[in-house]
Amino acid sequence: MAPGKRGARKRKSGEALGEDTEGSGDRRRKDRGNKKYIGAHVGIQGGIWKAVESCTEMGGSSFALFLGSQRSWKRPPLDQAAAARFQEQLSLQGYEPAHVVPHGSYLMNCGSPKEDVFEKSQALLVDELSRCSLLGLHLYNLHPGSTLGAITTEECVDKIAGAINYAHQQVPAVVTVLENMSCQGNTVGGQFSELKSIIDKVRDQTRVGVCLDTCHAFAAGYNLSVEGGVKAMLREFDQEVGLHYLKAVHLNDSKGKLGCCLDRHEDIGKGQIGIAAFRDIVNEPRLDSIPLILETPGRPGFEYAEQIELLYSLCEENTLID
Ligand SMILES: [Zn+2]
Ligand SMILES: [Zn+2]
Repeated sequence: MAPGKRGARKRKSGEALGEDTEGSGDRRRKDRGNKKYIGAHVGIQGGIWKAVESCTEMGGSSFALFLGSQRSWKRPPLDQAAAARFQEQLSLQGYEPAHVVPHGSYLMNCGSPKEDVFEKSQALLVDELSRCSLLGLHLYNLHPGSTLGAITTEECVDKIAGAINYAHQQVPAVVTVLENMSCQGNTVGGQFSELKSIIDKVRDQTRVGVCLDTCHAFAAGYNLSVEGGVKAMLREFDQEVGLHYLKAVHLNDSKGKLGCCLDRHEDIGKGQIGIAAFRDIVNEPRLDSIPLILETPGRPGFEYAEQIELLYSLCEENTLID
């Protein structure tokens, strides 16, 4: 059933777009028939523009990428020619900047109680936002930070918001998208209320949003595995934060059990969350047009391409396009 359905969706949206089916841009647009932008976190080895190609090859419609090495605080400046090539590929292959969500460096802790780490994190945040600007991108996804057990959550929230406000002064336009955490260790942002308290302290609230990671939410105690779990989570998110702040979703199943606080991603349908929640997500109209990005480990025969295909096959709107 799945491949046939997806094929039908492609053909129908292709007809609506006209006769030209030659370019890869057309292939991208066809994949967008049901308004769901499913993709994955792709690598940048060999050049940042290669990320675009990787996503297209796996049949994705949105993607995440790192903006540089995950090991160094200081990186060589982004090459202008590479940035131009990235933008060229993006437009050639039919992606909109709103469906590309760069992921912040894991080195950063913008809530760090250690002054040197805080300073380096703030500087890296400015650098990464500048890179987004150079790449023509509007969204930037960040893990809020950690108290390291040395300061209160409130103090940590103040530091995170301070770093974001500082970076926003240095770099215009890019929206900082805070990711919900799994409540592992001393991380901040596991509870939606913590994300809201950061947002409340960001001066330009048109420049802040949230990326909801399903594995993190489940590990933090939001029960997506029960019937109606996705709707319940979105309701709670809407009440505590506001759905208009939702800019992206990370689609990950969870190796760990509900409320385990462990950040352990699993392939779609192979973990404790289960396939039903993902079916609900890809059929949730409030998630139309929002990038839905996989960060799953993958296994032989069930890598990103197959998981993207599976998720698209679960979209019931597939058959409803005229
Ligand atoms: Zn993340
Ligand atoms: Zn994670």
